[in-house]
Amino acid sequence: MEHHQLAIIGGGPAGLAAAAVAANAGLECVLIDEQATPGGQIYRAVNTIPKQRATLLGPDYQCGQKLIDQFNKSGASYRPSTTIWNLNSQREIGILHNGQAALLSADRVVIATGAMERPVPFPGWTLPGVMTAGAGQILLKSAGIVPNDGVVMAGSGPLLLLLAWQYMRAGVNIQAILDMAPQNNLWRAMLHLPRALFVHHYILKGLKYQLQLRRAGIPFYKRITDLHAIGNDSLAAIEFSDSKGKQRIETSLLMCHFGVIPDSHLSRCTGCKHHWDPAQLCWRPVTDEWGNSSLDGIAIVGDGSGIGGAVAARHAGRLAGLESVHTLGRMSTNERDEEARADQRWMADDLNIRPFLEALFRPSPTLLGSPKDETLVCRCEEITAGTIRQALHAGHQDTNQIKFFTRCGMGPCQGRQCDNAVSQLVAHELGVEMGITEGYRIRPPIRPLTIEQLATLQGVDEDK
Ligand SMILES: Cc1cc2nc3c(=O)[nH]c(=O)nc-3n(C[C@H](O)[C@H](O)[C@H](O)COP(=O)(O)OP(=O)(O)OC[C@H]3O[C@@H](n4cnc5c(N)ncnc54)[C@H](O)[C@@H]3O)c2cc1C
Repeated sequence: MEHHQLAIIGGGPAGLAAAAVAANAGLECVLIDEQATPGGQIYRAVNTIPKQRATLLGPDYQCGQKLIDQFNKSGASYRPSTTIWNLNSQREIGILHNGQAALLSADRVVIATGAMERPVPFPGWTLPGVMTAGAGQILLKSAGIVPNDGVVMAGSGPLLLLLAWQYMRAGVNIQAILDMAPQNNLWRAMLHLPRALFVHHYILKGLKYQLQLRRAGIPFYKRITDLHAIGNDSLAAIEFSDSKGKQRIETSLLMCHFGVIPDSHLSRCTGCKHHWDPAQLCWRPVTDEWGNSSLDGIAIVGDGSGIGGAVAARHAGRLAGLESVHTLGRMSTNERDEEARADQRWMADDLNIRPFLEALFRPSPTLLGSPKDETLVCRCEEITAGTIRQALHAGHQDTNQIKFFTRCGMGPCQGRQCDNAVSQLVAHELGVEMGITEGYRIRPPIRPLTIEQLATLQGVDEDK
């Protein structure tokens, strides 16, 4: 089996920074990522994109090039277009590249798989013509594709606002922006404003986006509830309620976004400890200040260990890189601590904005915990909220029992889309706190593999 000193999974700011630090210190290190180019979500395609499109996406996007240059110079090896489908506690990694599956191993693994958009089921969310804002941004960054016939954008979270601003600059017809954050979020967020003012550039940036969008005449609807996507074969209109009552907008494209959560499927598959974060409303791994998980030799950093944003991810990646160099015997404790000081300080500063953002953009508990009976919750297996409620009331009072009983979470996405929704629905119905109800138990493969790929697996130790 191919073996490495350090394997890093994920080529976003966290993974790139960890790899550069480790390789510069002389560690043999491989960075594996399913994307074709380095950069992760935020800096997707930054080193291949035409200049005009990069300018349109804004300065925060363009600054990713520097990080990629540092990574390229470090001598770390790079495996793009390679999907990880398993990682176990012995640090054996299942990879898939060009249709060929293989196993490799490492003395130490850093998981930097980043974030995914929070999936929130609502009536009609599976209709063609309804997609996430993140998917829209991926099309813009990687292929320069934008909506042609107008788009309605709905939900809450900085990414929704950012994409609306980027679309506005690209000349897209934004029919409306629907703000779905509950009214009392603003007052709750104000409690965290003094701390957030330490990093006021984030607040100024958000205000700038809002101001420019309003000046462009884009209609904003506030405090939206009861969002429905309507259509037979594809989206024809959306309906919702606001302070003026029921509203309807004819549209063929709705982009939704309800914040991001750690992409924790791989870390949960290893079996390391996770807990429910009531502020970020997601499962996140238990880690120490260096990113070390509860399992020996496995660290988890960046948004995959809790949402902190790209700057914090970069610092956390550097810290995990230093810790890897230290634990693999190439740096003393004092040297590590000395090298880490600036990153620890910058990271702590940057994280001051999080409680404010978490309170401001927190999705409504009704939206998360009580989808209507007819709403599809598991889109792969087409299981509705009503079926899940029936299973609950038949006595299956645990997320995993409901999974076995109804098959929700057993489709191609392996529960990535419905895990949070099902556990929140269960907690809501039982009237218990999240964290008392479990999430799905995650088993490999976390990404689809064919039987042929498994049967021709490379790197298997025949004696085992
Ligand atoms: C769709 C989307 C768009 C975003 N856009 C922005 C933005 O424009 N601006 C902004 O400030 N923030 C954005 N964010 C938030 C942003 O992702 C983070 O703050 C930041 O990129 C986190 O860095 P990271 O290194 O932790 O993870 P990421 O940048 O997310 O990098 C993780 C990498 O891991 C790879 N990966 C994940 N799972 C596997 C696997 N099983 N096998 C192989 N590779 C894997 C992914 O392909 C990705 O390249 C976005 C988030 C999402 C989900």
